[in-house]
Amino acid sequence: MEYLLSTEGLTKRYGRHKAVHGVDIHVKQGDIYGLIGRNGAGKTTLLKMISGLAAPTEGSFSLFGKRGKEAYRYLSRVGTLIESPGVYPNLSAGENLKLKCLAMGVRKKKVIEELLDTVGLAHVGKKRVKHFSMGMKQRLGIALALVGEPDLVILDEPINGLDPQGIAEVRETLLRLNREQNITFILSSHILEELSKIATHYGMIHNGVLLQELTRDELMAKCSERIELKTDDAAKACTVLESIGITRYKVMDSHTIHIFERLNDSGEITMALAGQQVKTISITVKNEALEDYYLNLTGGGINA
Ligand code: ATP
Repeated sequence: MEYLLSTEGLTKRYGRHKAVHGVDIHVKQGDIYGLIGRNGAGKTTLLKMISGLAAPTEGSFSLFGKRGKEAYRYLSRVGTLIESPGVYPNLSAGENLKLKCLAMGVRKKKVIEELLDTVGLAHVGKKRVKHFSMGMKQRLGIALALVGEPDLVILDEPINGLDPQGIAEVRETLLRLNREQNITFILSSHILEELSKIATHYGMIHNGVLLQELTRDELMAKCSERIELKTDDAAKACTVLESIGITRYKVMDSHTIHIFERLNDSGEITMALAGQQVKTISITVKNEALEDYYLNLTGGGINA
């Protein structure tokens, strides 16, 4: 498959400490890729390497189908907001954008008004950035990352420190850009619940290692409400389930079935199985919340 960005064994060592270790991520055109990891997991370091802001110790990445040194030539098609947006607090949003356009040689007329409009800051006029709310600053950071019409935009913790309204505003802005301009995004966060409202794909990173890559549907399936049935004969149990009208189930192994409907009917299911001499070893309703799933994956415990 052709990826817009992929990494191969990407590693960054600071002295003896491996901040990122052998990471392979895969991002397709049009994806909103959520990189999820606790504080210190290695998210920023990974994003810096794929933005050309830090040199990998080992490994490489490919951008727009080009690998190694050639990939670096395509970084002009990548917009970034990594760590806090580099803004001039005494200037207005428009003036900040003007400076970035000048630095990047962007001369297109009306580009500043268009960008301000895109991120919902068209109304701010001459207000200095130092008087902006966190959400407004963050949206200005996104506008700055959009200068030069990038195909891929990399945002490090774009919702960090925002209140619920600010989070919603940033989320809507990103979804609109993805939908209307087909911009591919890579976003990092330590809050899976928030990322889940926007990301189409996930990379879960912990202690510098990528634990898992999965699609939104795969994640939702893992966290959805279900009955977990353990029997002595899953194949025979399926026939029994079908006989009582249950069709939304998945056989996990020769003893385990996940059932995604009639979550209150455990009693009926057990009786139907018994009636056909299928032994129920256990039957439980599971509803693993997103954060629980992530905590389990990373070995539990919270690291603020
Ligand atoms: P956070 O959400 O806290 O920013 P993160 O997932 O972005 O976390 P990184 O900032 O990439 O994590 O840091 C990963 C590890 O690398 C941490 O242990 C950090 O202390 C270390 N690290 C990052 N940058 C440097 C540096 N320039 N020199 C030495 N160690 C570093």
